[in-house]
Amino acid sequence: MLLGPPGAGKGTQAGQIVKKLKIPSVSSGDLFRDHERRKTSLGLLAQTYMNKGILVPDDITTKMIIGWISQYGNKGNFLLDGFPRTLAQATSLDESLDKNNNIDRAFYIKVSEDVLVKRLSTRLICVSCQTPHTSARDKIKESNKCVMCNGILYQRKDDKPKAVCARIREYMNKTSPLIEYYANSSILKEVNGENPVPKVTQLIIDSL
Ligand code: AMP
Repeated sequence: MLLGPPGAGKGTQAGQIVKKLKIPSVSSGDLFRDHERRKTSLGLLAQTYMNKGILVPDDITTKMIIGWISQYGNKGNFLLDGFPRTLAQATSLDESLDKNNNIDRAFYIKVSEDVLVKRLSTRLICVSCQTPHTSARDKIKESNKCVMCNGILYQRKDDKPKAVCARIREYMNKTSPLIEYYANSSILKEVNGENPVPKVTQLIIDSL
């Protein structure tokens, strides 16, 4: 699983890891955004939290991800991106997985707050494949198209400054305690997320 503040590069790394290891992955944020686009009742509910930059309640999120795991993740290895994000989610996840098929490694992607704010405020997402881009990194300014699939890019509502501050606050209050939780179960691996993208991917793959 990938753990880290908003803007640490979880989505980018998930894309790279899935390509290299050919395993299924799930991003709780992407699932919520998909529901939001399809205007399902879950999407409309989640939207009210996401637009403010606060976490969707645990019971809703946990049910959605555990449902995904039972459908796609029970046949072998899989990657979790952005879940769990609270201690309650982590304990529910542990209870739902059997002892022989629990989480092998929790990668904590560490990035300083200055870098996070800069990354998030310049980030654009592909509407088709969800790949995150920062304008500096991918030189997308000229084309405004996704480097992976040529899809249209947009700025997430929660990448605007007010929501970014709320998301970082939520992370500090509710998600950062998971670092200790996974360190205590000896599966935590810290990775410097300020390294270039391929280097971060390599550190993760080598550790697996
Ligand atoms: P992300 O795409 O991972 O940055 O998530 C975007 C938003 O989706 C977050 O700010 C939350 O509102 C919601 N969200 C994503 N994952 C979770 C989670 N594990 N628990 C609660 N809310 C979540």
